Amino acid sequence: VCPTASITPKYEVDKVWKEIENPDKVVVAQIAPAVRVAIGELFGFKPGALLTGQIVNALKMIGFDKVFDTSFAADLTVIEEANEFIQRKQEDYKLPLFTSCCPGWVKFVEYYHPELITNLSSCKSPQQMFGSVAKEILPELLNIKKENLAVVSIMPCTAKKAEAKRPEFNHGGIKEVDYVLTTVELAAMIKEAGIKFENLTPEPLDMPMGFKSGAGVIFGNSGGVSEAVARYAYEKLTGQKLFDFEFKQLRGSDALRTAELELNGTKIRMAIVSGLKNASELIKKLKNKEAEYDIIEVMACPGGCIAGAGQPYTTESDNKCKRASALYESDKTLQLHKSQDNPYVSELYSSLLGEPNSRKAHSLLHTKYYNRRRITPENLIKLADNDSKKL
Ligand code: SF4
Repeated sequence: VCPTASITPKYEVDKVWKEIENPDKVVVAQIAPAVRVAIGELFGFKPGALLTGQIVNALKMIGFDKVFDTSFAADLTVIEEANEFIQRKQEDYKLPLFTSCCPGWVKFVEYYHPELITNLSSCKSPQQMFGSVAKEILPELLNIKKENLAVVSIMPCTAKKAEAKRPEFNHGGIKEVDYVLTTVELAAMIKEAGIKFENLTPEPLDMPMGFKSGAGVIFGNSGGVSEAVARYAYEKLTGQKLFDFEFKQLRGSDALRTAELELNGTKIRMAIVSGLKNASELIKKLKNKEAEYDIIEVMACPGGCIAGAGQPYTTESDNKCKRASALYESDKTLQLHKSQDNPYVSELYSSLLGEPNSRKAHSLLHTKYYNRRRITPENLIKLADNDSKKL
């Protein structure tokens, strides 16, 4: 049984077309990292072709008003999650910390391992952080009403559709993310519009939410979140600048990888696992005290989002490797590689959020999880409603 609802995806292309045709609506897109290295396979490009600019061009031709990058929100996720981790580590509280970027994994915990809910990071996924911040800052920047802003995510993943529909991400009828299109759905939309994607020239992303560091881009690979957090934790714990930014010991295609970092006397034991079967085996080991870690990154799809269920179908592991390498190459060619160096993220903290993990940051960027075995969908809506009133 798929715990992520990814086997019953809803096709949302028609709804997005309607929003674009509505003159009262401003429709913005966020593009997840893994989409840019896979969509080309549906238009005759080789696996791993990096096509961010061409996607921007296509979305603008389709009628999107602004095109941003989920990697911007991934940079935010790194800062929030790394600070949450460092605090838990220093207080020796609820370790290991499990990452929460993957809604497939989060839902798996809520259904099958509710006893681990308090070990999950309270950070929303980058998709939801993006939607939450977009609905908070864009109405003023674009001079529109909040209800006239539609946020469309372009995701590698069908589980993201279910995530966007969670009641806790709907605030009195205003959803953080209104629609989610998979990579395959976007390709269908491009073809429907008669756009020759293979002939498009690259266009730039819009600012401020189109700016990212390479740390936000590698999120698409299994191990990317851990590496991005390590780049942050290094500077925070040692007080020194990190120049050699690649943590190659955290990379690879094995379903379970482990590494130990020693940062100014703090030993950090990390595990990276992809695939829910592998995650279950790791949980068993943790419970039997056969393994101990401080932070564990879990991605439901083997290899991470590059191999998500909304990506072009491939059985070639070589294709997945090419997508993964393209994200690491993209990181290399960007000027910035650490989330804490993203100037637009810094600006967001000084103008709106205050400190990482502040009250405001919690109200916009963090969430709660529920034991789904005990809760009916109706009660879940009531609980989520009460929680959002408290913030
Ligand atoms: Fe979605 Fe798979 Fe990525 Fe999880 S690992 S967010 S299920 S694409």
